[in-house]
Amino acid sequence: MASVDIVNIRKSYGPVLALSDIDIQIESGAFFTLLGPSGCGKTTLLRTIAGFHFQDSGTILVNGREIQNMPAHKRGVGMVFQDYAVFPHLSVTDNVAFGLKRKKISSALIKPKVAEALRIVQLEELAHRMPHELSGGQQQRVGLARAIAVDPTVLLMDEPLSNLDAKLRVDLRGELRRIQKDMGMTTIYVTHDQEEALAMSDVVCVMFGGIIQQAASPFEIYRNPANRFVANFVGANNFLAGNIDSQGDAILTTSDLKVRSIEGGISDTKIAVSVRPEAVNVSRGSHAASDDMLTFDGNIRQISFIGRELEVHGKTHLGDDVRAILRPTSDLLGLAEGDPVTFAFNRDEAILFENGETGR
Ligand code: ATP
Repeated sequence: MASVDIVNIRKSYGPVLALSDIDIQIESGAFFTLLGPSGCGKTTLLRTIAGFHFQDSGTILVNGREIQNMPAHKRGVGMVFQDYAVFPHLSVTDNVAFGLKRKKISSALIKPKVAEALRIVQLEELAHRMPHELSGGQQQRVGLARAIAVDPTVLLMDEPLSNLDAKLRVDLRGELRRIQKDMGMTTIYVTHDQEEALAMSDVVCVMFGGIIQQAASPFEIYRNPANRFVANFVGANNFLAGNIDSQGDAILTTSDLKVRSIEGGISDTKIAVSVRPEAVNVSRGSHAASDDMLTFDGNIRQISFIGRELEVHGKTHLGDDVRAILRPTSDLLGLAEGDPVTFAFNRDEAILFENGETGR
């Protein structure tokens, strides 16, 4: 078990600032995920921790010991890659033994360590196969077994599931989490998939533009996104224009509907009122507002049936675009483009961002 402290890490590629003064504390045994869109710096950070890249400045400590200037093979980290990176000419057993042999571990010890790693990833029965005789998911388990066989103090994973099909990805993420918990191994995981990040992690760290936007538990990230970028990235992607009136109440600019009072709210400040698609209700016809619900008349623009969910795109009569995700019912499935509907959401579901950016 190992804690990881990243202190003021900065890294540029020529004129591109890929990491800007990154500060992160990771508790021993935590599953910590770097989440962000392409180009946000997550791979650069992971590879800097691994020792494949070197920072311009800053410190990386594992259990309080500085590792940032050590070569990769001395850092005690295990790495699992997106493209599996198994050696095609070596059997499953030899792939898993590879790192142990390189560490000059005695052959008497290698055998039980390989067997244990293969047991953990449930590949014992395929130990003699060659990589081309394995599925993508099985190859990725070999990659994981190879990484854990050397008893790393920290496990690093760079989008390990992204080459797998959707069903396998979901199966394997549960399995990865189980293995990580059983072993109690501090893990730093990179993904651009918000659902994967929320489902697997103790802490999710959302990055954008080489800067940490928020690091918190999945629930906190989802319930209280620190800014508009985080809200949008974790799926709260309806944004309605609002402002704070002279009473200190948040209102929707276009309708004067009151969202709620804001303690210390400065009047005439512009705000963005955000709401998650799954918090938006859609019903046929026109309905009056209730105490709890904000309601808007509008029209259907598009409906997509995606199995367990129905995705509805609409426009309110005020001109705002609204997206809703609903449980499919025969009534809703019968809706067509242009149909008049009422969009509604509970006032408590609104997330408010002052100046369109900060705070709840
Ligand atoms: P992805 O999900 O696409 O891998 P990422 O979030 O992991 O993206 P990085 O690969 O860390 O992002 O890249 C961060 C920034 O640094 C990007 O602007 C990228 O273009 C730039 N960058 C990465 N590697 C290099 C390099 N070798 N030379 C120059 N610029 C680079």
